[in-house]
Amino acid sequence: MKLKINLKKISLGFITLLLVNCQNSIPFDLIIKNGLVYDGTQNPPQRQDIAIKADKIVGLGNFSEADALQILDAAGAAVAPGFIDTHTHLDPLDNLLALSNSESQLRQGVTTSIGGPDGRGVPLQYGFAAFLDTLSQVGVGINMGFMAGHNKIRKKIMQLENRAPTKKELDRMIAMADQAMDEGAFGLSTGLKYLPGNFAKIDEVIALSRVVANKGGVYSTHLRDEGIAIMPAIEETIEIGKKANIPIILTHHKVIGKPMWGKSYVTLARVDKARNDGVNILLDQYPYAASHTGLSVLIPAWARAGGQEKFIERLSNPESYAKIKAEIIFNILNDRGGEDLNRIQFARVKWQPDLEGKTLKEWIVMEGKKPTIENGAEYVIKGQRNGGASCIYHAMEEKDVEKIMQHPLTMIASDGRLSSPGIGHPHPRAYGTFPRVLGKYVREKKLLSLQEAIYKMTLFPAKTYGIENRGQLKKGLKADLVIFDPNTIIDKATFIQPHQYPVGISHVLVNGKWSIKNGEFLNKMNGVVLRKTIPSTTTIVDVN
Ligand SMILES: [Zn+2]
Repeated sequence: MKLKINLKKISLGFITLLLVNCQNSIPFDLIIKNGLVYDGTQNPPQRQDIAIKADKIVGLGNFSEADALQILDAAGAAVAPGFIDTHTHLDPLDNLLALSNSESQLRQGVTTSIGGPDGRGVPLQYGFAAFLDTLSQVGVGINMGFMAGHNKIRKKIMQLENRAPTKKELDRMIAMADQAMDEGAFGLSTGLKYLPGNFAKIDEVIALSRVVANKGGVYSTHLRDEGIAIMPAIEETIEIGKKANIPIILTHHKVIGKPMWGKSYVTLARVDKARNDGVNILLDQYPYAASHTGLSVLIPAWARAGGQEKFIERLSNPESYAKIKAEIIFNILNDRGGEDLNRIQFARVKWQPDLEGKTLKEWIVMEGKKPTIENGAEYVIKGQRNGGASCIYHAMEEKDVEKIMQHPLTMIASDGRLSSPGIGHPHPRAYGTFPRVLGKYVREKKLLSLQEAIYKMTLFPAKTYGIENRGQLKKGLKADLVIFDPNTIIDKATFIQPHQYPVGISHVLVNGKWSIKNGEFLNKMNGVVLRKTIPSTTTIVDVN
């Protein structure tokens, strides 16, 4: 049997040798045979073979007679473009450098991530280009691109000051955003809920967005508010989209806090109207009814202006202490607190790691206190005084999650951080986002067809962000692929036990090389650092 195959290889190799004029004896490096191919376009799947040479897809169709260095029979499996995660926390820097092999992403089928969301951008001890160069040298397991971050830029120029920039400061901020675009940024991210982004008025954001738009970038925003005041925050974004002539993405779209439950129909109707009015507005979403962010999100921004020292100074003044506490109580009742101290769950707590996984209520009870909302506010202050923590907020309604997911303008993105078993207590989205959509929402709940869901994870984000040559299974594009069993794929990570890899994904190929093979993670740095090229067709908008 073995001899027979070898003979066939030799004979086919001979034919090819003649055809390609001595270039190579075996035409393909890899053929993936018999898979059900979802090409990323939303078209119904087709049973076909995919031929790969070096880092490219060189053909789709019938390659049953062709020869290759490797042949994989994918009968019974789905073959899709590698998933593209446009909201990934490829930060903080020490985490990125330690986990740049990106196992938690690859095991979900993710082959490309865009980092620097929520205004975070890249660490500014580096310039944008120098950061990308350093990362290239370190090596990456997946393809990684980055956004310029408004919060990072503002902090560099104005620290944590709660005021408008001077003309000179604004010019410096604009120049930094412009330079980042020249050096390969995919757009501008803002985190207007966070320090110091929330000190920025709309004109400042429009000014930065204009230079980003001129170079073909997009605007991705963590809205100023995702709870009771979400509608003005969406209006602000639409105005930025119009005035800067930039595609706008309401990232990790959600309606948060008990008074808002069921109100996604209002936000989505506004999105539809803006779209009809010609605004290029889009959404992305992670498939969970809980968010993950700092404990500080419950504390009013003005109280933290100037940083931790100023915050502690304000706490020592009884009048401002009472005001801070009252606003935290409001946020527990109406915003991310979800009206219940058990809905606030600690994730990473450097000053008391045994709190990780426990709720705010459990902490207060552990300390021998009554778990009232008042005490909840006291302990939020105590936690922030200790240095803060990251928390999971179970403050959304599942029905809203489903409605947003089904909207045709919604892409899937994890908002997850590169994670590894044993480190902290992350939101399960870091491990489970993509398999969860395909298993829970496609197969079990039938909210989307498989091709719709795959489109939301591949070609749709690739087109939106201008990620070239990826996101689709098509001749000539890069060979980023995921092979999975649509009957078994599912996430395993939970809020209680997040450090669990999903199941059902057997193979992942990045730039034509195996990163996961037969379910085994190979720990290979097959990714490349992506730099967005500025489209030559971009129309320059007047910046005045
Ligand atoms: Zn965010």
